[in-house]
Amino acid sequence: MLTITQHKHDLLIIGAGLSGLRVAIQLAKDFDVAVITKVHPLRSHSVAAQGGINASIGEGDSWESHAFDTVKGADYLADQDVAEILAKEAPRAVIENERWGTAFSRTEDGKIAQRPFGGAAFPRTCYAADRTGHNLLHTTFEQALRCGVKFYNEWFVTSLVKNEGRICGLTALEIASGEIHSFIGKSVIVATGGFGRVYGHSTNAVINTGDGCALAFRIGAPLKDMEFVQFHPTTLYGSSILMSEGARGEGGYLVNSEGLRFMDKYAPEKMELAPRDIVARAIRTEINEGRGIEGEYVHLDLRHLGREKILERLPGIRDISIYFAGVDPIDEPIPIKPGQHYSMGGVHTNKNGATPIAGLYSVGEAACMSVHGANRLGGNSLLETLVFGRIVGEKIGEYLPTAPEPSSECVEDDAFRVREKLQEIMLKESGESPYEIREVMGTTMDSLVGVYRREADLKVALSMIKELKERFKNIFLGHSDKRYNYSLIRILELENMLDLAEVITMGALMRRESRGAHWRLDYPVRDDNNFLKHSLFTKIDDYVKTEFIDVNLGMFEVKERTY
Ligand SMILES: Cc1cc2nc3c(=O)[nH]c(=O)nc-3n(C[C@H](O)[C@H](O)[C@H](O)COP(=O)(O)OP(=O)(O)OC[C@H]3O[C@@H](n4cnc5c(N)ncnc54)[C@H](O)[C@@H]3O)c2cc1C
Repeated sequence: MLTITQHKHDLLIIGAGLSGLRVAIQLAKDFDVAVITKVHPLRSHSVAAQGGINASIGEGDSWESHAFDTVKGADYLADQDVAEILAKEAPRAVIENERWGTAFSRTEDGKIAQRPFGGAAFPRTCYAADRTGHNLLHTTFEQALRCGVKFYNEWFVTSLVKNEGRICGLTALEIASGEIHSFIGKSVIVATGGFGRVYGHSTNAVINTGDGCALAFRIGAPLKDMEFVQFHPTTLYGSSILMSEGARGEGGYLVNSEGLRFMDKYAPEKMELAPRDIVARAIRTEINEGRGIEGEYVHLDLRHLGREKILERLPGIRDISIYFAGVDPIDEPIPIKPGQHYSMGGVHTNKNGATPIAGLYSVGEAACMSVHGANRLGGNSLLETLVFGRIVGEKIGEYLPTAPEPSSECVEDDAFRVREKLQEIMLKESGESPYEIREVMGTTMDSLVGVYRREADLKVALSMIKELKERFKNIFLGHSDKRYNYSLIRILELENMLDLAEVITMGALMRRESRGAHWRLDYPVRDDNNFLKHSLFTKIDDYVKTEFIDVNLGMFEVKERTY
């Protein structure tokens, strides 16, 4: 039997988006840090973030106001101690990145410019035109290179390995060679981003398949609040590309087929700048009740902003509209409809990013630190990656010196198991098409586990996903090339997404209330008596244990949410 190549580092970070890189920067000076990523770091999905990053650096704003907006926006399901950290640490994170070189847009007197965003009491979203993620990721990557972080670019992590309740490493496929390697580490961080591609219509890149969440789930790390899936109100009709909330922040209107701005019916005070769950439902209702254009979409109208403002503040939005919808927003309104955008749920961690498995941490969109609760506010996710990237880095820095030596045999054994499994898939001569399974999964999630949900639909969705999981056992790859076999990668991603689709649907079924992004037509009221709780999902062999755990309250009274 061919040997398995082994690598050893103190810390293994899966993911080179903003969150993974920020952890790496924190620790690279004192420890041997490796970042493993399935795409080049600058292709991580953080690069696509458009609208901006929140921080209370404006005159008259405060961290308390930011924390309150976050908790209220979350429909009170955010852990308030974690929201406090996010808001308090925000100015430091933004200034740090500015000093590293991020080219934030400026006010006339040279300060970092800020725009209004949904659900915020203050214009606190700092931005770099409508390419904020692009700017932040390049700056952060430069810093990681400067610190000497070791990168494994275009390596696909295939499993996590634990021994006696403690993480000891992972296995990964080198995409270029097709070889499985083992990686030994005292600590592993899941920073693999969101899982939007579980849905058919998503603003997420095709790489956002939730691999890290599924791998952690498989070794017994619980997932949390998975039913809370954010649907962004404004995705381009036809392609689902994001039309940033910055467009409404700059003053864009939403208009139905009757030519009316309809948000006054749903959020009379905040109008287009209500939180995303409310605006997405409003658009879906307009379309469902026959006021959609061609029965399918509504308009995002920017024309009144004028050419100059659109060119200065929203150049990317204009380009995307022209290239992908044939519409120049200077002259015509943009056709939009809601689409999957963000995963509030993820790997269950405490506020330091620690999971119940010793040495296993998670951060960024892959994690559920409970800072976004039932609905994330725009601009808080980029912030989460940087604030908690640093904090989690600090905490791992305290853990590593006392962590025991990991068992390399366990990782090696698992690498042999993974290699055998992949060989079996590659040598199969017939079976199920992964593309068909993926298509059915996406349309099932779009149509039955979307903006509006009900028990009968969710039950159908769950049985369809279970059926797809059965079909997956007979998956057919079609060719056995080892080098750059992206068809194989797509199959491994599909396996991960099917697990997550099942848990999302289970969560949506068991939460018999409507809160934030989770709206049940059959239980249309928020039920604090029974459901002011986080949902938790733990895999035990072939069974998923479900339970509810408490939300950390304290700073703000739980109230009805009006905007
Ligand atoms: C279109 C769009 C616009 C957005 N705009 C904003 C905004 O303006 N403001 C805001 O606050 N938020 C925004 N968000 C959300 C925000 O961008 C993300 O939540 C955040 O960037 C996620 O960062 P991350 O580090 O957690 O993950 P990502 O940046 O997604 O990085 C994930 C990393 O994991 C790696 N990875 C995944 N699986 C594997 C595997 N199996 N093996 C190896 N590596 C793996 C990938 O290669 C990648 O490096 C936006 C999201 C989208 C989709």
